[in-house]
Amino acid sequence: MKIKIKKVKNADLKNYCSFKIGGRAKCIYFPENIGQIKYLINALKNKNKEYLILGNGTNILFPDKKLKKIIICLKKLNEIQINGEEIVCGAGANLFNLNSACAQNSLEGLEFTYGLPGSVGGAVAMNAGAFGDEICNHLFEIVVCKDGEIYSRQNLKFRYRKGPLEKGEILLFAKFKLKKGEKQKIIQLQHDFLQKRRDTQPYGECSAGSVFKRGENFIPAKLIDEWGLKGLKIGGCEISKKHAGFIVSAGKARQSDALALIELIEWVAKAKGYIFEREIVVVTN
Ligand SMILES: Cc1cc2nc3c(=O)[nH]c(=O)nc-3n(C[C@H](O)[C@H](O)[C@H](O)COP(=O)(O)OP(=O)(O)OC[C@H]3O[C@@H](n4cnc5c(N)ncnc54)[C@H](O)[C@@H]3O)c2cc1C
Repeated sequence: MKIKIKKVKNADLKNYCSFKIGGRAKCIYFPENIGQIKYLINALKNKNKEYLILGNGTNILFPDKKLKKIIICLKKLNEIQINGEEIVCGAGANLFNLNSACAQNSLEGLEFTYGLPGSVGGAVAMNAGAFGDEICNHLFEIVVCKDGEIYSRQNLKFRYRKGPLEKGEILLFAKFKLKKGEKQKIIQLQHDFLQKRRDTQPYGECSAGSVFKRGENFIPAKLIDEWGLKGLKIGGCEISKKHAGFIVSAGKARQSDALALIELIEWVAKAKGYIFEREIVVVTN
């Protein structure tokens, strides 16, 4: 039986990422439930078509030319269920809504993710973190789809900015274990973290967050600043004047502009004896 799934053909990728960079994509699918995801993955597998999973597109740099891969955006898989101190969250739920649900139910632990613009799927895949905490510290089970099969896993392994997903696994649901707390304190902490972001990051400008991961004993943003690279521009992209770990785009920025800045920073870093590892996901065809 053929299942109809919402899709946008010839989609402008600028509208699906916070960097506002990218050309067109052949097609973006928006499955709404597990049945649709399973059907879609199997159909693409049978046709030998490559695909890319997308959440909120806040950690991604798309190519300028037309993307051949099919995009599967999980934004519509966004339900949030609360059972006591456990939360079951669809991969497409955004972290603002997750934080609202936590506050409404007086559940504490995830406040550090308030203001992080991604989805739960992207946050788990990247093991998003801030202010000394990481999302995987609060995660106890995942439901994933791999090659069209759906299963759940516990005993999750993760490390800095590397979530528990294995190659080919798509996160469908994440289960978090939180603690009962005081609603007002939770809300206050969420707002304090958001304010810190606004004070220190180019929040509200077009970016994909921190470009590089922290090293074991160095912070790329600090070094980029010390090397006098803040404010450097190539084409429509600039190393943020507010936070040297971010590249921001304005107007007609292209992937090639962002990549030229990234490669230049990497080159300077290497010359100074550092290897910078990229945090943002660079998509090529
Ligand atoms: C202003 C700003 C501030 C930020 N601050 C932080 C911060 O403090 N800490 C931090 O860690 N990050 C930060 N980020 C980066 C980003 O928001 C996070 O990494 C976020 O968790 C990514 O989620 P997303 O849904 O946008 O992922 P996307 O950008 O859509 O995808 C990122 C990667 O995850 C994969 N992915 C997405 N969903 C799934 C899924 N369901 N299953 C399998 N793979 C999936 C994608 O294929 C891609 O490889 C910031 C970004 C911005 C723009």
